[in-house]
Formats: sequence, structure tokens, C-alpha cells
Amino acid sequence: MNAQPNANLFSRLFDQLTDGAKTAIETADGARISYNDLIALSGRTANYIVSRGVKPGDRVAAQTEKSVAALVLYLATVRAGAVFLPLNTAYTLNELDYFIGDAEPSLVVCDPSKADGIGKLADKIGAKVDTLDANGNGSLSDGAAKQKSDFATVTRANDDLAAILYTSGTTGRSKGAMLTHDNLASNSLSLVQFWRFTDKDMLIHALPIYHTHGLFVASNVTLFSRASMIFLPKLDPELIIKLMSRATVLMGVPTFYTRLLASPNLTKESTRHMRLFISGSAPLLAETHREWSARTGHAVLERYGMTETNMNTSNPYDGERVPGAVGFPLPGVSVRVTDPETSKELARNEIGMIEVKGPNVFKGYWRMPEKTATEFRPDGFFITGDLGKIDTQGYTHIVGRGKDLVISGGFNVYPKEVESEIDAIPGVTESAVIGLPHADFVEGVTAVVVNSKEAKLDEAAVMKALDGRLAKFKMPKRVIFVDDLPRNTMGKVQKNVLRETYAGLYKR
Ligand code: AMP
Repeated sequence: MNAQPNANLFSRLFDQLTDGAKTAIETADGARISYNDLIALSGRTANYIVSRGVKPGDRVAAQTEKSVAALVLYLATVRAGAVFLPLNTAYTLNELDYFIGDAEPSLVVCDPSKADGIGKLADKIGAKVDTLDANGNGSLSDGAAKQKSDFATVTRANDDLAAILYTSGTTGRSKGAMLTHDNLASNSLSLVQFWRFTDKDMLIHALPIYHTHGLFVASNVTLFSRASMIFLPKLDPELIIKLMSRATVLMGVPTFYTRLLASPNLTKESTRHMRLFISGSAPLLAETHREWSARTGHAVLERYGMTETNMNTSNPYDGERVPGAVGFPLPGVSVRVTDPETSKELARNEIGMIEVKGPNVFKGYWRMPEKTATEFRPDGFFITGDLGKIDTQGYTHIVGRGKDLVISGGFNVYPKEVESEIDAIPGVTESAVIGLPHADFVEGVTAVVVNSKEAKLDEAAVMKALDGRLAKFKMPKRVIFVDDLPRNTMGKVQKNVLRETYAGLYKR
């Protein structure tokens, strides 16, 4: 009888491994973990979590600092046929109460400093708790060390869940996006091809591993291509520049690129060994893209994805990487732009709702069938909530989240368009355009601007510079100056925070 290959992501990652001695991960303090080590460690951890009662289909929640042991926990959970549920390290006990109550994991792994508080939440649903600190020590590692390294990877179907990632929930409740083994495997394999990853690559991995970017894009792509990665606990621009002399790829959020540009040590020479710089998770300013090209000679490759869909589009490896655009659909992914009201597909260059379909798109929101149903079209396209357009050359452009659209006096104002004009004013570092409650216009277009260090722009100067460049209804009614825009850990500007902070601006 011809046995079906196991669709478990772990099997797809490692069953065909030929060179187990190859380094998979190098840590900041120089430790090297080979592919064989990683498989053995995941076997011990899988045996341990099974001994703690974790069964196939159970959720394993982890709120842990970044470490090799934390990545091993992800691999071990998937290997055991369970569902990995990573949680942002910034979440408070109050927030964790919701996630743990909603996902009902059978095991929660957390930092020892939080074990008491989380223990009480876990007790409510009968979950067990283990600990893991930033150095990879804790009851999880102690328990795993006593186990055998052999573990028979649990058989899973393509459609079985491998992970649940909660969306950041900037409006309303955070939702658990259910990702299958095939969602993760198919997307990583597309990216390996599209970005030309090979076993010669060495990735600088400075992203958190509780988010799709650092956990799936960076880690799975490296492991599928038998490349190596240098695991850094956080963004350290000088260390990253130093490592570039022997690395080949960097994946970052836009903040990485602005922080690296602030260093005089970022030069053509210091980036000579690198072959690829990738940016995503938030818009990379066209200005940053141009500055980076001028300084290093490398054009940053920007891509677009989200927790629910993995990666959807990417600028090309060969061919033009257009500043401000997110490129073409990945192989097997369909992207279209529709009228948000009628859901009819729009022509090239028309702005509307971005919808995607493909093996990358998630299975639905955990325990929210009605919400899931409203986010999919009858023909299977997922409504991303992002507004954008596809230009005549086929490049996708994002103009902002649908919920960030400003409707002023009945007219649609796309924040990105106004932001691009403001960002082009000499002396402006960056800006965020939001709509605030306004008695006459319902929403008043409002610009929040960061001046560069030397610049002394005021409201009148910004308005003067915009005069004649934007239709009257798009012009900001007020300009507010701040030192920094509020951002989350993935570099996304938190417009909801700005809207709350300045909610009373137009109140008389
Ligand atoms: P998350 O689920 O946290 O990964 O956030 C996904 C959202 O980030 C998307 O729906 C977009 O709004 C935004 N995003 C991701 N990549 C980009 C990009 N390259 N340019 C603009 N927005 C992006």
C-alpha cells in the first residue's frame, strides 16, 4: 500500500533533510544549533508536552521571550499535532484572560515572572502551566531534557490546524486566525522560490516570534531552504550592521530600515555581502526606500501580508521594486480590488477593497463562524480590510486600512494620499492622517506630523506647502506636531491611539 505523505508542517520541513549537521540557528552569543539538534530538541519537547496531557488538536499557548527553546516549542507543538498559539509578550494579565478563556489551551508556557498570575487564569479552564525564560531555562526545558529525542511526528491533513494567531485587534475584539498546516507550508515554499532562498543564505532574524512575520515568514522560509539564521533578541542596529559582513538577507519592519539609516556605519561597503533586504508588516515610506537605495545600492523588496493570509504579494526579485508598492501576487495567490459597496471588481488604478484567495488564506476565525462568513465572498475571496489599487503594470498599492478611511463632508479621503504629500514637504520626517469627529464635516481631516530635528515647520507652513497640491476637501483642517508617532511592536502606526488622543480637537 502506498502511504499518503504526512501533511504535518514538521514532516514537510524535515522529512527530506539530507545534511543534518548544517547550522540552522546561531545565537547572539555564538551558540550553534544544527538541523539535527533542532529535530532532537523538538522531539524531547514534543514528548514532554504529550506527557503533560497535550493531545492532537489541543492548543498550546506561549507567552515567552524570544529564544531557541521558544522556537523549538513551536516546532514541537506542530510535531505533536497540537495547535501553537503564540502571544505578544506585551499582553497584560487582563488581556491574557480573554485569550486563554477563548482558546482554552491545555498547556500555557510563560515567563517564570508571570507564572503566578497566568497560573490563576489557567486554573479557570483546567490548563497546565510551564515556564520558559529569555535564556531558554524553566520547567519546560527541565522536563524536556529528561525525555527521549525520538518522537513519531503525528499525522495531519493539509486542512488541520497548525496555529492560531490572534489579530492585533486595534478595533473591537481580537480574533483568533486559524492557520492550517498547508497554509503555512505552501506560503513558505512560494516565498523560498520567489525570493530565491538557498542553503547558502544566512538570515539576520531580529523580529519577534509571536507574530506571523518572525515566526512563519522568517523562520519557516529559512528552515525550508536549509539556510541558517542568526537569532537576535531584538533590533540592535549596530550589531545588525556588523553581522551584514557574513549574512545575506535581512527581514524587517519599516522601523528597522529607518533605524539602520540613522547609523553612519550603514554604507555600500557594510552591505556588500548582503543579497536581499525585505520589508513588510507596515508601509515602507517611499522616501526610506529611496534613501536606502542611495546609501547602500540595494533596493528594499517590499511585500504585503497579514496574519489571516500569510504573504499575498511581493515586489519582484528581478525587475523593478517600486517604492510605495507591494508588488505582484505570489504564485497561486489571486488578488483583486472591488467596490466595497457592490463588491464588483474594479478596473486598474481604481481604489477599492483588496480581496485575496489562495492556499495561503486562513481557515476562519476561532469560534466565530458568523464573523468568518461575513469576511469571505461566496467565491472564496477573503476581504482583507485593506484599501488599495492595482496599477496598469500589475503592481498592488495599499492606501490604508478601510477603517482608517476618512469621510469628510461626504467625500472619501485616502490618508495615504495626503500623507504622501505631507511627507514630501522638506523638513517633514513622517505623518499620519486621521479623521476626527467634526460638527460640520462629520469627520475632519487631521494631520499629525513629525518634524525632522532641524526643521521648524508650523501649521501655516504645512498648509501653505499643500495649497494647490490637494483638492480642498482633502486638505487637513488642522495640523498637529508630535515628537514620534505611536507604533506597535511591528512598526504599525496606531491610528486608533491618535484618534482617541485628539478626539475632542474640533469640539466647540
Ligand atoms: P498583521 O496581521 O499584524 O500582519 O497586519 C496586517 C496588516 O498590515 C495588513 O492588513 C496591512 O494593513 C498592513 N501591512 C502589511 N504589510 C504591509 C505593507 N507592505 N504595506 C502596507 N501595509 C502593510
